[in-house]
Amino acid sequence: MTKITGPCDLLITHVHIATMDPSGGTGSYGEIPDGAVAIDQGVIQWLGALTELPISLQPKTLIHGQGQWLMPGLIDCHTHLIYGGNRATEFEQRLEGKSYSDIAREGGGIMSTVNATRRCSLDELIEQSRPRLEALLSEGVTTLEIKSGYGLNLETELKILRAARELEQQYPVRIEKTFLGAHALPPEFAGQPDRYIEVVCEDMLPVIAEEGLATAVDVFCETIGFNLSQTEKVFQRAQSLGLGIKLHGEQLSDSQGTQLATAYDALSVDHLEYLSEEGVKALENSATVATLLPGAFYFLKESQLPPVEKLRASGIPMALATDLNPGTSPFTSLRLMMNMACTLFGLTPSEALAGVTRHSARALGLHHHTGMIKTGYAADLTLWPVNSPAALAACLTGEHPSLTLYNGEVR
Ligand SMILES: [Zn+2]
Repeated sequence: MTKITGPCDLLITHVHIATMDPSGGTGSYGEIPDGAVAIDQGVIQWLGALTELPISLQPKTLIHGQGQWLMPGLIDCHTHLIYGGNRATEFEQRLEGKSYSDIAREGGGIMSTVNATRRCSLDELIEQSRPRLEALLSEGVTTLEIKSGYGLNLETELKILRAARELEQQYPVRIEKTFLGAHALPPEFAGQPDRYIEVVCEDMLPVIAEEGLATAVDVFCETIGFNLSQTEKVFQRAQSLGLGIKLHGEQLSDSQGTQLATAYDALSVDHLEYLSEEGVKALENSATVATLLPGAFYFLKESQLPPVEKLRASGIPMALATDLNPGTSPFTSLRLMMNMACTLFGLTPSEALAGVTRHSARALGLHHHTGMIKTGYAADLTLWPVNSPAALAACLTGEHPSLTLYNGEVR
């Protein structure tokens, strides 16, 4: 540990630290029992055992952690948080026996969300999305991703991304914005998916890049989404504009999107229930993160499990996210996702916590900056009144962080 002298903004003492840093601490959480963390100018300056605390350290503010667990702020790396309306009545209709295609024919399904989102003003969209963001933040989320994709025309895609930018300005949270114009085929382009992809690439992407409204693009590569060559066109255009690549891949079938995405150095491929051996190999030979979305698996009552054991054996980082959206994962709890990932997919609680911290940071390209408690990293921290870090995945019993720090500021 580096010895430091002089003042620091904040010192947190008497905490057990789950650093989530594989090279720091001990055990699967990178633990430092009875530790302390010093923060200056929003950055972690020192951490270690309380007994090794430099005497010369003079904090402006001191927090006694009372034996609680200090963990990295949580990171939700895949959400569709901004949309109009909700689909509660469809949920009811489905349980009353109506088929998904009947519902879609009557104007339901994804198009009902697209229509509701198109109808909202920017302010209405922000107001409807605010409770969802606040719910995530109440659980200690300090970074999240928000995708567009419920506009499917330039005007509304811009409105969604501007709403995300506005929310980031209003709340102490980091929001990574992803353009998902290739989410579904809008009715205006029925039967002309190639024409729509051209519009995405030539009319939408350059405007979004120009306004700096997104750092990445995403495509829904699936039998009911876009095919491999359409997906590749979006990737090529995005790369030419300097944007990162993400993919909704292998959710309902093996479309081999993972192999394509890794060839474009994707940040992450998300869902992966139908990931093949070749897909696992492609991930193994890349820096791409495998993001698992147990909420959608659960809500759609899927039975095909993602190949977690193979991903684990190959050392592929597994992130976890809410996939928060009105149709297939209407959940605002990353902790519920941690629990589902353990019960449904067989992750361990420490894998689940790594999935919403270190690995989800990597899925957003922020892994040199946040997602671990480490010297030089952003002081995005949560303090939990629990007796073990496993409680985050194991016990959904009302605990919230007693303290959340975002860039060193108490939220
Ligand atoms: Zn999604």
